[in-house]
Amino acid sequence: MLTHNPGFPRIGAQRQLKKACEQYWAGTISRTDLFLTAKKIREENWLLQKQAGIDLIPCNDFAFYDQVLDASLLFGAVPSRYTPVATDIKDNTEIDLYFAMARGYQQNGLDITAMEMTKWFDTNYHYIVPEFTAAQQFRLISDKLFNEFNECKRVTGTTPKPVLIGPVTYLLLGKEKQNDNGEKFDRIDLLKKLMPVYIDVLKRLEDAGAVWVQIDEPFLVTGLTEKQKEAYRYAFKEIRNKTNLKLLLATYFEGLHENTGLATGLPVCALHLDLVRAPEQIDDVLKAIPPKMSLSLGVVDGRNIWKNDYSRSLALIEKAKAVIGEDRIMLAPSCSLLHSPVDLDGETNIDAEIKNWMAFAKQKLGEVNDLKQIMAGNNELLKINKQAIESRRNSTRIHKQVVKDRVAGIKEADAKRNSEFPVRQRIQQLRFNLPLFPTTTIGSFPQTDEIRQLRAKLKKGALTQKQYEEDIEEATVSAIRVQEEIGLDVLVHGEFERNDMVEYFGEQLDGFLFTKNGWVQSYGSRCVKPPVIAGDVSRPGDMTVKWSVFAQAQTSKLMKGMLTGPVTILQWSFVRDDQPRWQTAFQIALAIRDEVVALEKAGIKVIQIDEPAIREGLPLRKADGPAYLEWAVKAFRLSASGVRDETQIHTHMCYSEFNDIMEHIAHMDADVITIETSRSQMELLEAFAKFKYPNEIGPGVYDIHSPRVPTVEEMVQLLEKAAALLPVQNLWVNPDCGLKTRRWTETIAALKNMVQAAEKAREKV
Ligand code: GLN
Ligand code: ZN
Repeated sequence: MLTHNPGFPRIGAQRQLKKACEQYWAGTISRTDLFLTAKKIREENWLLQKQAGIDLIPCNDFAFYDQVLDASLLFGAVPSRYTPVATDIKDNTEIDLYFAMARGYQQNGLDITAMEMTKWFDTNYHYIVPEFTAAQQFRLISDKLFNEFNECKRVTGTTPKPVLIGPVTYLLLGKEKQNDNGEKFDRIDLLKKLMPVYIDVLKRLEDAGAVWVQIDEPFLVTGLTEKQKEAYRYAFKEIRNKTNLKLLLATYFEGLHENTGLATGLPVCALHLDLVRAPEQIDDVLKAIPPKMSLSLGVVDGRNIWKNDYSRSLALIEKAKAVIGEDRIMLAPSCSLLHSPVDLDGETNIDAEIKNWMAFAKQKLGEVNDLKQIMAGNNELLKINKQAIESRRNSTRIHKQVVKDRVAGIKEADAKRNSEFPVRQRIQQLRFNLPLFPTTTIGSFPQTDEIRQLRAKLKKGALTQKQYEEDIEEATVSAIRVQEEIGLDVLVHGEFERNDMVEYFGEQLDGFLFTKNGWVQSYGSRCVKPPVIAGDVSRPGDMTVKWSVFAQAQTSKLMKGMLTGPVTILQWSFVRDDQPRWQTAFQIALAIRDEVVALEKAGIKVIQIDEPAIREGLPLRKADGPAYLEWAVKAFRLSASGVRDETQIHTHMCYSEFNDIMEHIAHMDADVITIETSRSQMELLEAFAKFKYPNEIGPGVYDIHSPRVPTVEEMVQLLEKAAALLPVQNLWVNPDCGLKTRRWTETIAALKNMVQAAEKAREKV
């Protein structure tokens, strides 16, 4: 049984790569220093994998920014707008062109936009979207892959397994850019042009001594058209005919489902399966697998932080062994470990009992090796693992019967407001007496350096809790005065007391824990440190009431209470793998519900429950969408439905496309929803109009992602567009999202214009 690893995190256990890249961009370290840091990380990773007993060590899983961008450079798919960069950079090197593509280039009179970025399947990783033109040419222009292969070989003394994005997935990840004459084309048709270069790459690897090559084709787990399936057959036949490498075809994030026959029919030596996400696919694959093909069993979760349940993995391995024999089995994590934090050993603050249930990337490699040892007869390892799994199953530290009982006792009525929306709307109109086009903001105001420093000082002990809170109070009061002066109708407290919209709640809820260095790459040099939901979630006490009440006491205007919704808290955390996601979501929902009720009781009349992550929780396979949306929307409704009709519930979502989920958005039944629309010129709103969205809605009129101050006229125009699409009495006026990344000057100027725009819009009605 060969063990291998689809990929290792490249940020470094202490985020060394992030720091080095940012310093290089700022011009404070040299290119040589940057390369040295990168080299050190790679070497450490490789040796660590060797020590862990991994037979096939991956190379080319390292990237300075993103592995898809690496592929674009490898294949020479560099958009023409970057041509001037090459001549602008003195002693031009690939790395500067690469960073220009990732981040844009603003220097020496050049102002070239970055390439687009989007989410990598259903993960929180973002890749750089390849851009293709109808006349696209490919050519091999980068040596990175080959250098890394040689380097890894030297460092480990083994023959590494290069990791490459598959040709079909690479094209499908990209986007067609029309040329001036508007010529339309299908990027999959570029395959004929890509394949010669792709084969060149493989041949060069072969010449360098490569034996195994991992070709990542995650699109095989998604719904494919006939043409795309044909593309797979063509591409792999070409590769087979022209090289002698051992091909390991890697699929992950889902099961192969209807593509099982396609995948097992491709001429490859081994097929990798994600048996964490889709363990049931093993049966179909074992039925379909041809006589000589090996199976790589991805049994160790590459996307979460929990210890592997060896008994469960062994059952899958035994099943495969019975059909294809030990020799044709490979063992691996389910997908690249890019999606898990690097090393649990550094987590000295986690309670020992709970830590014994966890595994980060380094530990996961050990698990792969353990499984191999157990298959070879080492029962002691299995016994130790069983004890850990057993202790997690029974620990009263994380299992709270009252919480479980409460979820089990949820009734339909709990997820329903007392009255239907039209009744609530009338009651709320009478109570609030707001003008047409009421103005508000989404919650946060600028998180200035001073505010961030307050938190840092508090952590270091340089500030007492009391001093800290006084300073936050001062910031809050001043934000309220600013909003009053601007003339906004519904105010917010500014969220100055919050570090992050999920962490802030996680820290106050039972069932969560936090890591010191559990960083995962999100994009480029940006890393996130998701909270860990370790146990049953409950709310020991009020979380936001004190701040909301304080803020409301400062003004006679309405003050919105501000909460993060259950689905977003779930989505942006490491979740439990010992119960279904919906169960965890409902536990969080009940905790948020109690907070909503507590806010109402404390006199807060308008409460916003943010759910920006609802859409990104959608499963990869369309067929699984409705079931997810049903529980996700129910979780929101549970959190929102504990209050009286006169209390106005808002929700907020950004970056959302709504067309295909409109029915579910409406079913959330928030009294007011605020969404991001300004960049799309209200296009997003059309989905709401077409659906005849019945509740109130605030389409963003101000793009908060840019420091630019929008003019009154352009916002009036956006409002007119909105008024043409939806009933005026349902419209609110607000920015696209929170203002925490903006500076005060532009924020004030933009909001003043926004209020004026609302006034003008009122006159026109
Ligand atoms: N209330 C949050 C804020 O204003 C919402 C953030 C978000 O939608 N991502 O910052
Ligand atoms: Zn937002």
